[in-house]
Amino acid sequence: MHGNEAVGRELLIYLAQHLCSEYQRGNNTILNLIQSTRIHILPSMNPDGFELAASQRGRAKDWLLGRANAQGVDLNRNFPDLDRIVYLNEHSAGPNNHLLHLIKDRVQDDNKLAPETKAVIKWIMEIPFVLSANLHGGDIVANYPYDETRTGADKQYTPCPDDAIFKSLAEAYASNNPIMSNPHRPPCDMEGDDKFVNGTTNGAAWYSVPGGMQDFNYLSTNCFEITVELSCEKFPPASHLKGYWLDNKASLINYIQQVHRGIKGFVTDSEGHPIANATISVKGISHDITTAEDGDYWRLLVPGEYQVTASAPGYETVTRKVGVPHNPAQKVDFQLKNLQQKDTEEQQLERWWKMMSETLNF
Ligand code: ZN
Repeated sequence: MHGNEAVGRELLIYLAQHLCSEYQRGNNTILNLIQSTRIHILPSMNPDGFELAASQRGRAKDWLLGRANAQGVDLNRNFPDLDRIVYLNEHSAGPNNHLLHLIKDRVQDDNKLAPETKAVIKWIMEIPFVLSANLHGGDIVANYPYDETRTGADKQYTPCPDDAIFKSLAEAYASNNPIMSNPHRPPCDMEGDDKFVNGTTNGAAWYSVPGGMQDFNYLSTNCFEITVELSCEKFPPASHLKGYWLDNKASLINYIQQVHRGIKGFVTDSEGHPIANATISVKGISHDITTAEDGDYWRLLVPGEYQVTASAPGYETVTRKVGVPHNPAQKVDFQLKNLQQKDTEEQQLERWWKMMSETLNF
């Protein structure tokens, strides 16, 4: 997103190569991962910023040159600010999820949105993503929602309804990176490193980010996203890249594996037809997710006992008790009865027989 933060871009190219070569070598971890997971990799959202940052190679680095796109827009402040809507809705019991549709018509015509932002919004909305990470540089930490505080001031821990699983996801990344998880690592230049917990932080507890991609994902789709700061240096010399890859390889693989946690399944009607856009609610977590086109859903959760409800307009609501282990995801399907259920063939036959017997009087 920030073109001058080049480590993430290079790591993702290494990651793509690693997935392919280990798949071909028959590495069981990678075989299992690829055979069970759709993986999307976007090495750069801001190639113009990268070119600008790269143009000052060999000279003293400007900390901010290449952060924005060619138009001067900071892409991680450019997403629709859905936090403001959800904070208002908390007082009015308004929707707590999929908030983009409230302002969807404004997105494509909104000239404040950069072309890169519009393209990525379209991508995020089109594919039923479940888990993602957004890679940055300038510090070393795994940062989770919310990123924006209610007041706009910095340093206010602002948990989202899914705080428990987000902490666990951030820890899954940080704990596999020997530098990120080291409490005694020398601090970077940015302030606030000393408040990080096991290499993780709530975004808003560090500093408030309005219009960021992380909170946008959580509030507009079913996708849970964290932000990973990979290195103190934003645009390191090429000779440092191998070290960053070795520090982050296990974290990246382990993070992708986290998608297979919580519960997943299908929501269908009485005849087994998929119900798209059905709501999956978990008691005690005020953030619903929805089913995709084939009635399929994924709901990330930490281990525990949950009451899970599936509902859709025109169908009876079904609630089930579910025990969730650490992994793999517990499979929970829901079959919802149509409220105005059409007669089954058997019922029709029975009625016809009754009518005939009455008419013919036998
Ligand atoms: Zn950044």
